[in-house]
Amino acid sequence: MGVCPEATISLLKDNFTGTLRHWARPEVLACTSWGAPIIWDGIFDPHVARQEARRRNTTIGLTVFAVGRYLEKYLKRFLESAEQHFMVGQNVVYYVFTDLPEAVPHMVLGQGRLLRVETVQRESRWQDVSMARMRTLYEALGGQLGRETDYVFCLDVDQHFTGNFGPEVLSDLVAQLHAWHYHWPRWLLPYERNQRSAAALSLREGDFYYHAAVFGGNVKALRKLTSHCVRGQQLDRERGIEALWHDESHLNKFFWLNKPTKLLSPEFCWDQHIGWRAEIHHPRLLWEPKEYELVRN
Ligand code: UDP
Ligand code: MN
Repeated sequence: MGVCPEATISLLKDNFTGTLRHWARPEVLACTSWGAPIIWDGIFDPHVARQEARRRNTTIGLTVFAVGRYLEKYLKRFLESAEQHFMVGQNVVYYVFTDLPEAVPHMVLGQGRLLRVETVQRESRWQDVSMARMRTLYEALGGQLGRETDYVFCLDVDQHFTGNFGPEVLSDLVAQLHAWHYHWPRWLLPYERNQRSAAALSLREGDFYYHAAVFGGNVKALRKLTSHCVRGQQLDRERGIEALWHDESHLNKFFWLNKPTKLLSPEFCWDQHIGWRAEIHHPRLLWEPKEYELVRN
């Protein structure tokens, strides 16, 4: 995969990444063609990011949806593991969106951390629950969530933290490399290919395939991202079509048109079913087993 050209390295400094130690991981791609860093274990010093976030008194939002049976199956482990590993020592606001507010587990939270529960209605199809997140997030980012946070990470609930997920992931617009697809040639990636869909990408388009289970950024950038996806989903619905991977297809279209300023290596959202990979040193978040028959309608 090779190291970054010297010219690109100077572009790589954002406020939280500090100095790039690209020589530490010569076997992985450490930056994109447009100069965004790709965060692999060992490439950045996490202490630099932690200190910078503290110095700025940064507040980080973590949003998660737990609608229907996803709540009792996944939410407790997700939140307990987040207390252990997500932005430890920083100001954190969890936003749990659910149709069952009374069933949200009671949590004892660390200092500087709080949890808000927001009620959403339950859509009848799981695909609609997944897509409806974009509108709910758009509205929340325009309200209290947007006012009380500087950066927000939006995560699926069917996963749990297993390692430090700290301020080194912060940037204006952050995308997650999909664990199953980061080795695939571009033309094979599962983008929406139907040109009638607002999410369509041609065989010559696309940089990477990004996973909708993790995305983040500052409030302004995420307002733009969520509004793009809401509009695309609406246009498709009016045409009686639905993109292959729902909100994820629209998210991938957005990131093609608006390049993320930071990418997270698959270590930040790993699936153990893939098996051993030499470049995966330190998984930070692991997928839960897919037990769709238990949680989906
Ligand atoms: N979700 C939910 N209830 C549902 C369907 C989806 O709460 O009935 C939320 C939940 O946060 C879940 C996310 O939407 O993690 C995306 O759905 P899922 O994880 O099933 O999609 P996949 O990761 O398999 O594509
Ligand atoms: Mn998921």
